[in-house]
Amino acid sequence: MIREHFQNHFDRDLGAINDRTLPRDTMIRNPMPLTPGFRLETLSPLGLCGVDRVYTNRNRRALGLAVVALLTNLSTSQISAAGQDHPQQITVNGKNYNWPKRPVVVVLIDGGDPAYVNAGLAQGLLPHFQRFMNDGFVSVALDAMPSLTNPNNVSVITGVPPSVHGISGNFFLNPVTGQETMMDQPEFMRADSILARFSEHGAKVVAVTAKNKLAKILGYKLRNGISFSAEEADKCTRKENGIGDCLAYVGKSLPNEYSGDLSLFVLEAGVKILQREKPDLIYLSLSDYIQHKYPPGSKEANEFYVAVDKYLGRLAALGATVGLTGDHGMNDKSNADGSPNIVFLQDLLDQEFGSGKTRVILPITDP
Ligand SMILES: [Zn+2]
Repeated sequence: MIREHFQNHFDRDLGAINDRTLPRDTMIRNPMPLTPGFRLETLSPLGLCGVDRVYTNRNRRALGLAVVALLTNLSTSQISAAGQDHPQQITVNGKNYNWPKRPVVVVLIDGGDPAYVNAGLAQGLLPHFQRFMNDGFVSVALDAMPSLTNPNNVSVITGVPPSVHGISGNFFLNPVTGQETMMDQPEFMRADSILARFSEHGAKVVAVTAKNKLAKILGYKLRNGISFSAEEADKCTRKENGIGDCLAYVGKSLPNEYSGDLSLFVLEAGVKILQREKPDLIYLSLSDYIQHKYPPGSKEANEFYVAVDKYLGRLAALGATVGLTGDHGMNDKSNADGSPNIVFLQDLLDQEFGSGKTRVILPITDP
């Protein structure tokens, strides 16, 4: 009954979106090297969660499974893992969230397009993904627009779309200063973080991100929590990050920023923290390095997903309810001959309105 209800609404939303004419994949001038066959963000991340089947939040579909994955794994209890009293339910940005009855771990695979998982499943490489899909809940959803990392990570941790939480890109033209600015500071957020609000009520909350650009936003207003980025794990202090000497704590050396290992460091940190700290809620945000570089079913992509799969198994074996989602999908932005499929928007606008009259910025920019 609940499943049917959810599915009906979900299909209707998808239908509404599909009825609109989505533009072909186009790009404006891109500061990244344009190599043949390059891959970029697109709609349709994967969303799945293991163990619990309950999803009663009928009004929270709009953001897709990114949020559903988090919400559906929260259930009622009176005592936190740390043994503290807490409300049975809290309200964040107008929505009610039940207190988790056991540790909840939400993993976000950056650029986690379903095609990668399907390719691994087809070869029987991902037993834990498969088990979650069989015994839990799985679906493909559209992400929040724009389909970029920062807006969608913030949608997951606030439960509201970018039009409400204010993180409209990775990068924007600040109307106050006239400067092109990274959107990586909490001052740009207009909504409360679910992570922070749970911590304010005594939950032990953990937020670990691969990329440092999300660290400040994910850790914003966390009370007595643990929060750091794999990218700067060598700079952890107990005062700033909740644990000191993260490299020793996790038991791995500092990963290269441009490697799949950056994500595996985050997952290893999640396992160690789950074992040692009795957390209530853990958010682990991975990197999209592999997905940008390798297509679904490639040796490198399969190896990465096999490693992620093992971590999902370890997290579940430690008693956590595990939710998994992506922030957006990923696909080729090339013509059949491998050349980049690009429209240089600034050139077109200059032709139409004259040079210097308009200014194009690239909200995907991630220097
Ligand atoms: Zn991303």
